[in-house]
Amino acid sequence: AFDVLVVGGGPAGAAAAIYAARKGIRTGIAAERFGGQVLDTMAIENFISVQHTEGPKLVAQLESHVKDYDVDIMNLQRAEKLIPAKTEGGLHEVVLANGASLKARTVILSTGARWRQLGVPGEDAYRNKGVAYCPHCDGPLYKGKRVAVIGGGNSGVEAAIDLAGIVAHVTLIEYDSQLRADAVLQRKLASLPNVRIITSALTTEVLGDGEKVTGLAYKDRNSDELHQVELEGIFVQIGLVPNTEWLKDSVTLSRHGEVEVDHRGETSQRGIFAAGDCTTVPYKQIVIAMGEGSKAALSAFDYMIRLPMG
Ligand code: FAD
Repeated sequence: AFDVLVVGGGPAGAAAAIYAARKGIRTGIAAERFGGQVLDTMAIENFISVQHTEGPKLVAQLESHVKDYDVDIMNLQRAEKLIPAKTEGGLHEVVLANGASLKARTVILSTGARWRQLGVPGEDAYRNKGVAYCPHCDGPLYKGKRVAVIGGGNSGVEAAIDLAGIVAHVTLIEYDSQLRADAVLQRKLASLPNVRIITSALTTEVLGDGEKVTGLAYKDRNSDELHQVELEGIFVQIGLVPNTEWLKDSVTLSRHGEVEVDHRGETSQRGIFAAGDCTTVPYKQIVIAMGEGSKAALSAFDYMIRLPMG
């Protein structure tokens, strides 16, 4: 059995594995796809102390850093079920899709999240070429340019306010007949001179020139008329979905499906910790996921050394 079993191999999981292994305890990491969302990222300019890097390069560095330690890396393994220990200090069990079962004294859940996609033509083709999902990450790349934000919930309106301070012009596109964000955010948005709000609009296509985004097409849901907006960037803000479907029977999740953790990263089950984008901790970012993963590993170690011997 492992002392610490990390499930998920993104920045949170990699940090957790390194911190655990450095304590000299038996550490394993099982991941469906080592690297996580970072693998899908091109430019990264907010990984503090590294001015510029790229997703695949950072993943290679994460992997080689983990491999410096005695960590059992189980890549391409999807966890399907978590069975918490029946008694304090007992073994937790993680069942994998291939039928195998891993046992561990403590578990760190770091299965991350995925951005909900529009599912329209052009979205896949122009991802990272104008189609973006993270305003904190990619906002500055659009300095002085025209962008759209798709989604009028809190995250969409926050993104539009944020981007309006950086880019030349923001078009906010909402499917519903009204925005769903908090009133205070809507008031702030309405006060900005370089923002246009379009409601009752169904985005139908991401337009591009073969190299990069040049606009988007939407249908006015009242008139059924098709319109186009010329722009350089599209921020899709229709929801971040945590990869926690497999955990709903074992730990407490928020109404958004995020694993609830306390300030030490512990879940509702003793000895089971969580970190990164799959948790209730706000702001889904690489440096934050790494910090939280490190914290969860230290908490797991702290928990272990207090267990009765035996
Ligand atoms: P993830 O990176 O999502 O990793 C989750 C891991 O869990 C993966 O290994 C996955 O395969 C695995 N997993 C999932 N389900 C299971 C399962 N059931 N069993 C086993 N393993 C499982 N952040 C920044 O700070 N700067 C940026 O510039 C930036 N740009 C971004 C660009 C894009 C396109 C995207 C999508 C995200 C970007 N982010 C950026 C956000 C950043 O990537 C995330 O905040 C960060 O990766 C979260 O780390 P994590 O370890 O919590 O989760």
